[in-house]
Amino acid sequence: MGKLDGKVALVTGANRGIGRAVAEGLVREGARVAVGARVLADGEAAAKEIGAGAFAVALDVADDDACRRAVEEIAARAGGIDVLVNNAAVAIDEGHRTADLPLDRFDRALRTNLRGPLVLVQLALPHMLKARWGRIVNVSTGMSRLGEGMSGGWPSYRISKTALNALTRNLAAEVASTGVLVNAVDPGWVKTRMGGAGATREVDAGADTIVWAAMLPPDGPSGELLKDRRATTF
Ligand code: NAP
Repeated sequence: MGKLDGKVALVTGANRGIGRAVAEGLVREGARVAVGARVLADGEAAAKEIGAGAFAVALDVADDDACRRAVEEIAARAGGIDVLVNNAAVAIDEGHRTADLPLDRFDRALRTNLRGPLVLVQLALPHMLKARWGRIVNVSTGMSRLGEGMSGGWPSYRISKTALNALTRNLAAEVASTGVLVNAVDPGWVKTRMGGAGATREVDAGADTIVWAAMLPPDGPSGELLKDRRATTF
């Protein structure tokens, strides 16, 4: 028996990288998993490789209508959404610092890394509240931490992820005692296209705490930034 038997999950940006490993992990735990991908064919290829339990949905998280269509499709197909993993993100600052950050990059990063997760929360939460059970996992980063994460550079990436942490904590307070738990996860430095070859963690290790946070027991943490299955400081 998997811990997520009978549950339905949506993972954004699940066609590759950490999101894909998370989708695999959730399927292993018994969930039906919607593999969100902005290029549907990429999602279909990933879902096919993951196997029974995974299906692809077209989902560009920067497009409100695409978010709405994806959630409606999942609800119609699988009966609801119990787990939302906001994984898709871009890191597009590329050498820019705060003073010279092109504002179109700032807008794109905030739209993808922050607004998309917010839109999906608004669409998925009613299903979770109705079921009196839900797990929302926002994939964050150590670079979001106000204490130790702010060493300069990557301004739109850091700012969007710090704001995602704030969204996590505020939402967790709003849904306390409803059966819905909301956490952010720092996956560590992971060998993906974003993390690069010099990263220290394999993809499965990066996915581990995200999958764990998706199947927390009712008395599990909420409103936390989790790393290696433990709460860490924001
Ligand atoms: P990745 O390999 O670059 O994969 C990013 C994924 O996000 C891809 O599937 C990409 O889709 C998708 N994506 C980007 N923009 C999208 C959009 N508008 N709509 C839908 N999907 C979109 O990155 P990763 O390393 O797996 O990162 C996954 C998460 O972990 C991110 O939230 C990242 O910030 C976080 N993280 C990563 C590291 C690390 O070291 N790798 C460290 C800390 C945190 P396409 O294939 O279509 O581009």
